[in-house]
Amino acid sequence: MIRLILLLILIFLVLWAAKGLLQDLKSLLGGRKEEEEEERITPLSDELVKDPVCGVYCPKGSSYKLKYKDRVFYFCSPQCREKFLKEQVSS
Ligand SMILES: [Zn+2]
Repeated sequence: MIRLILLLILIFLVLWAAKGLLQDLKSLLGGRKEEEEEERITPLSDELVKDPVCGVYCPKGSSYKLKYKDRVFYFCSPQCREKFLKEQVSS
């Protein structure tokens, strides 16, 4: 009778081990789950800034920056930046 109990325990252990193995295999196979899309955090550089020359709003990240008299200006193009500089110089 004890032998039967031991056998049952053995079977249980084997089944338990097999189950664990299967789960390992499953997680291994399912491990290549598509990577979660990175949360699109709006970077600060996407902030819209106004071009003081032509009045166009453009994203800070792709705008042309100019520091003038301790102020930072953003322009849509280098042409606008130059125009602004010229105006500042002439005035
Ligand atoms: Zn402009």
